[in-house]
Amino acid sequence: MSNTTESMNSQASDMSNIDVVIIGAGPSGSVAGALLVQKGYRVHIVEKQHFPRFSIGESLLPQCMEFLEEANMIDALHSSADQLEFQFKNGAAFARGETYTDFNFAEKFSEGPTTTYQVRRADFDHLLAQESEKKGVTITWGHEITSINVDGERPVLGARDEDGKDYELQCRYVLDASGFGRVLPRLLDLNRPSKFPVRSSLFTHVEDNMVPEEFDREKILITIHPDHKDVWFWLIPFSDGRSSFGVVAKNEFFDSLPKDSEERLQTIIAQVPSLKKILRNAKFDTPVRQITGYSSDVTSLWGNNFALLGNAGEFLDPVFSSGVTIAMKSASMVSSLLDRKFKGETIDWEKEYGEPLRAGVDTFRVFVEAWYDGRFQDIIFAPKPTIKIREMICSILAGYAWDIKNPYVKDSERRMNALAEVCQTI
Ligand code: FAD
Repeated sequence: MSNTTESMNSQASDMSNIDVVIIGAGPSGSVAGALLVQKGYRVHIVEKQHFPRFSIGESLLPQCMEFLEEANMIDALHSSADQLEFQFKNGAAFARGETYTDFNFAEKFSEGPTTTYQVRRADFDHLLAQESEKKGVTITWGHEITSINVDGERPVLGARDEDGKDYELQCRYVLDASGFGRVLPRLLDLNRPSKFPVRSSLFTHVEDNMVPEEFDREKILITIHPDHKDVWFWLIPFSDGRSSFGVVAKNEFFDSLPKDSEERLQTIIAQVPSLKKILRNAKFDTPVRQITGYSSDVTSLWGNNFALLGNAGEFLDPVFSSGVTIAMKSASMVSSLLDRKFKGETIDWEKEYGEPLRAGVDTFRVFVEAWYDGRFQDIIFAPKPTIKIREMICSILAGYAWDIKNPYVKDSERRMNALAEVCQTI
C-alpha cells in the first residue's frame, strides 16, 4: 500500500488538476474522498502514516452506517466484518454499583439503522481507505502536510515526503481530516480551548475471557466508578474474545495512583467490584497507552476554500462514542456542499455547514455535560423512566443527534434538566 518516493513523484506530476486535497485518511477523510470521487471530482489524500495504524475509538454508532451506505462502503464493511473480527453491536449498557441498565438501539425514536459494529480501528480505517482508493481516490502514504496558503484563488499546500523532501500541491479546495493532528487549526490559528476540563484516558486491549452469561458482547459497557461519578470505564468487545478496555478521569485522579500505567490500571480496576468480577480471568497482554487533553475546539469550521472535518474541528469527549459518527456526518455534509459549489452555486458555509454540524455536536454536548455532573446517570438509572423518553434518549445514544423530530435534539438542555429533576424525586 505504501508508495515509494519515485511513485509519489510520478503521481505528483499528475496532480495539476486536483479538485480536492484531503489531509488525513481516517474515517472523515476516506468517506469524504469516496463521496467526492463518486460525484466526479479528482480527490487526493495525503496521509502521514502507513495503514494499518493504531487509533483509539472502537465503538461505532448506528447513525454512521447511513454515511457508509451513502459512500457505497457498507457492503465492503459487512463482508469484511467476520474476517476482521468486527463485533456486531446493537446497543449500549451502563453499570453503577449493583445497578445495570441497557439500551437496545432497535427501540430508538429516530428512523435509520439500528445496529453497527465494534471495530479495531487499525483494520476499520484501513478498509475505508482501501475502499476510497478502489473508487478512484489517490493517497500518498507517509507524507505530511506542513504548510498552507489559502490567501489566493487556489489553496497551496506544503507537503513533506519520508525522505524529508518538500513539495507543493495546489487544488480548488482543501479538507482537513487530520484528526488530533489538527493541521489547519494549528497552521491557520483557529484553535480555541474546549470548555471541558482536561481529562486523560488509560487504555489497552485484553484477552477478556469473559463468561458469556455475565456479559452481552453486542453492547459497549460503560461502568461508573463507585466513588467518583466523573470517572468511568469502557469495555468494547471484539468478536475474537478480545476487548478494548479503558478508563477516563481528570489528571488529579490519576496523580494519586501508581506511576506505572499497567499498575495504575490494575489499581483502578480493583476499586470497582463489578469490573473486577467481569475481568477476573482477563489477560492484560498489551501495553497500556495514555492520551491526555483530547477535547478541542475551533473558532470556525471553514474558511477561504477550506473546511475542517471530524476531530480537526471540535472534539467533545469519548463517553458517548460520537467521534466517528460526527467525523462521517461532517464528510457527508461537506461533499454535498462542495458538489454544489463546484457546479457554480454560492454556498453560505456558516449557515449550511458550521451551524447545522454544530447543532448535532451541541446535542451531544448537553449529554456529555449531564454525564459528568451526574444528571444523565440519575436519568438512566431511575427506576421507571417512561418508554417514550427512553426511546428519545436511545436515539442520541445511537448517534441520531441531528434528527430534529426528536425533542431531545431540538431542546436538549431544557428537557435534560426537566427530566433530571423528575428523576431526582423518584
Ligand atoms: P482520525 O481518525 O484521527 O484520522 C486523522 C488522520 O490524519 C490520521 O490517520 C493521521 O495520521 C492523519 N494526519 C495527521 N496529521 C497529518 C498531517 N500533517 N499530514 C497528513 N496526515 C495527517 N469515537 C467513536 O466513534 N467511538 C469510540 O468509541 C471512541 N472512543 C474514543 C476514546 C478516546 C479515549 C478518544 C480520545 C477518542 C475516542 N473516539 C471515539 C473519537 C475518535 O477516535 C475520533 O473522533 C475519530 O477517529 C475522528 O476521525 P477523523 O477522521 O476526524 O480523524
